[in-house]
Amino acid sequence: MDLLLDVDVAVDSCARRQPWCDGVDLALAKCLAEGGRLWLYVGSMQTLNDRVRRELLGAQPPASKPLSDEQLAQQAKTLLQGFVADKQWLAALAGEGAVFDSPDPEHEQLLRALSRFTPGAIKLLTRDEALLEVHPEHCISPAAYCQQPVAQQGIGFVDLKTQQDALRPQLEQGIHRILHHGQYILGPEVTELEQRLAAYTGTQHCITAASGTDALLISLMALGIGPGDEVITTPFTFVATVEVIVLVGVTPVFVDIEPGTCNMDARLIEAKLSDNTKAIMPVSLYGQPADMDEINAIAARHGNLPVIEDAAQSFGAEYKGRKSGNLSTIGCTSFFPSKPLGGYGDGGAIFTNDEALAQACREIRVHGQSARYIHGRIGIGGRMDSLQCAVVLTNLERFDQDIAQRQAVAQRYHRLIAEKLEQSGTDQVVEKTGTGRLVDLLPWPAPDRTSVFAQYSLRVQERDAVQARLKAAGIPTAVHYPMPMNQQPAYTHFCCPECTPVAATIAEQIMSLPMHPHLTEVEQGCIVDTLVGV
Ligand SMILES: *Cc1c(COP(=O)(O)O)cnc(C)c1O
Repeated sequence: MDLLLDVDVAVDSCARRQPWCDGVDLALAKCLAEGGRLWLYVGSMQTLNDRVRRELLGAQPPASKPLSDEQLAQQAKTLLQGFVADKQWLAALAGEGAVFDSPDPEHEQLLRALSRFTPGAIKLLTRDEALLEVHPEHCISPAAYCQQPVAQQGIGFVDLKTQQDALRPQLEQGIHRILHHGQYILGPEVTELEQRLAAYTGTQHCITAASGTDALLISLMALGIGPGDEVITTPFTFVATVEVIVLVGVTPVFVDIEPGTCNMDARLIEAKLSDNTKAIMPVSLYGQPADMDEINAIAARHGNLPVIEDAAQSFGAEYKGRKSGNLSTIGCTSFFPSKPLGGYGDGGAIFTNDEALAQACREIRVHGQSARYIHGRIGIGGRMDSLQCAVVLTNLERFDQDIAQRQAVAQRYHRLIAEKLEQSGTDQVVEKTGTGRLVDLLPWPAPDRTSVFAQYSLRVQERDAVQARLKAAGIPTAVHYPMPMNQQPAYTHFCCPECTPVAATIAEQIMSLPMHPHLTEVEQGCIVDTLVGV
């Protein structure tokens, strides 16, 4: 649970006001230790500043020379700067201004601000007796809060909140700037994001799209691929990859995966090529680029087939020194919130170094429009909006740091699991038991590439039992993906599922552990102990 601090308790702690400060500090420490946040209302800042100065003045020994205004301001500044360092600023919103009808306008503002949170997710920490009595469901005293049982902090599968905490001022500024300039569609943020992402990947053109799915769809449309054609892809992916192929009337042709990376096995592509093959669409799954050079070479040998990399999970990863998304004719990524680089809604991007393709994508994204109300092509409404671009622009500031932390978390999983297996004398390939066992880790990425670890996945036997054991310990897991696309009810008629036996086996064994940049060694230790289960 989070706490919003009433001015009084903030002054208690900040100015060491007796006899309350120690009790308040205990409450603040408890909240942070339990993973909660401490909020200060921006609208209370002036009052807080005044009250801290008043306290400093009042705390002067009677005989001493009175502090000058300047000294007072300096001391208050030092105290306040230290105090706010581990707090979050809660913005004052327009609806919290006209509180003149209230007998207690300041508290009315705080109560209105609280209503933005999910009920029960936050309380106002106050020692105002009247407030505590009238709003017991929204308010709590430091003493009562300290008496509450210790709240267990669950392990999240992803953690978007910690990142938000670190970037809140920039996020709110970006969103509010758009409320004021009003260019909601194709506003300046869209252009800025496209420029920044093109520079980030070293690609000449970046075209944002309404989602990763739309980015893939627009790419296929721009290449002019349609009915009667075939596109080579992997069955072991999120459905969007295959969905867009079918949506443009094309037959997906599935190539099996390589068990170590779960990416398309390039050695199997040539056997699946036909005169109708018009593109190859590999997916860089779990954050690691597929064997793009091998795939590009095959494409080049067969009439310069275009290659579309589905980089929805691998954006930020490197392959032989180049960025995922810039490894083939076209690269597409997604800014779905839980992707390594996410927004707060849908979004995606297309990357290419081909000027004509870039122009086609730009037009298709806006209903095939080449000039206002002139539709030279058939297109879609596939734009990413300015608000989402502002969020992704902000998250991009921390992206490289997030990637480094994801890689460190993955490395720690690898080490902790190996240590645990060694300790327990179990070898990695454990025979089937009633409780479910680890089969194998996916090997660490080859030296010529990096992974951004969109997922940390491994193989287990009796997956249901392993997931249930982890769930009972409060550890969420997921399966990416439980069924290859050529076994999915809507897609079976495109290919015999038996054509891709590796994908079929991996789909039965694969499981993803919690993965985000803020997982701690303690949390990972707990996950690994439960996972290995011995
Ligand atoms: C997430 C994802 C997509 C689709 O992205 P959206 O932005 O959700 O449309 C496509 N392919 C893969 C491999 C994905 O993981």
